[in-house]
Amino acid sequence: VFQLSVPLNFLGSVYRELRQSLLDMETLFNLQKVNVAVKEKPDAKQLVLSQGGNIKFENVAFSYREDRSILHNLNMTIPAGKKVAIVGPSGCGKSTILRLLFRFYDVQGGRITIDGQDIRDVTLESLRKSIGVVPQDTPLFNDTIEHNIRYGNINASHEEVVTAAKRAQVHDIVEKLPEGYSTQVGERGMMISGGEKQRLAVSRLILKDPPLLFFDEATSALDTHTEQILLNNINSILTEKARTSVFVAHRLRTIYDSDVIIVLKEGRVAEQGTHEQLIQNAGIYADLWNAQEMLFTEQEEGEGQAQGR
Ligand code: ATP
Repeated sequence: VFQLSVPLNFLGSVYRELRQSLLDMETLFNLQKVNVAVKEKPDAKQLVLSQGGNIKFENVAFSYREDRSILHNLNMTIPAGKKVAIVGPSGCGKSTILRLLFRFYDVQGGRITIDGQDIRDVTLESLRKSIGVVPQDTPLFNDTIEHNIRYGNINASHEEVVTAAKRAQVHDIVEKLPEGYSTQVGERGMMISGGEKQRLAVSRLILKDPPLLFFDEATSALDTHTEQILLNNINSILTEKARTSVFVAHRLRTIYDSDVIIVLKEGRVAEQGTHEQLIQNAGIYADLWNAQEMLFTEQEEGEGQAQGR
């Protein structure tokens, strides 16, 4: 009896752990409101990043509902090792592009390739393992801060968790919490601010260290100063490792230094280039930039006056 109960207990705990990780995945998908119905092909292969992660959208068409097309004949290249920004008016499909890349949905026309492989031909696991994303709203689990960061890499040591938190500008905040890294967060624990959540999500991503990184308004809840420090840290990691990265952003000041800026309008690429090229073009980007700069200067002057400067 004794001999039998040991392996059974052991199996029980493995089962519980397995169950827990499935629950975690479910929570993550539910929180991101994604469609998990995408099917893997029986002969799906491992994604191989033979060129370092060159992403291509070829004539991509997509709609959530038949009566309303979101992307049509979208053509764009995200070159390996480069920092690319996607900008455009609210609702033009920027987040949809990230969801398609993660294969939360499949394209309805055209194809998306990574280093020449159609993403519908590779295993979901190898695709999603290669991609790290900081979404607009980060799901946190009802667990400790440490667990929430370690979700990026369950084998990471405590020191690695702390290093990631430092680079993501969240370590000092965690240290001040009553139970530090053991503090419970989420619905049943402490509620933390949107900006803190974003930084936890960045720590998670730094720990995961994937070859392809996506940031969807990842720093929008931060004040300008913290945002700048965090972006500098992210930039140094990206350059150090020559990672392919995509930033979706509203505030152009956060992305103007990208290698390529892609401007979307009505589901298509309206213009693309570097900041200087787009300013010279005097098109949509230049208009947006000028409008935001004007607003920014007014705000700065307003703050100056409020402080009696
Ligand atoms: P924002 O800058 O405001 O975040 P976005 O450019 O990222 O917007 P998307 O989130 O990609 O825009 O959405 C594009 C369009 O698709 C929007 O009009 C949105 O209402 C619609 N949409 C998004 N998700 C769904 C969904 N699950 N079902 C139906 N329509 C959706």
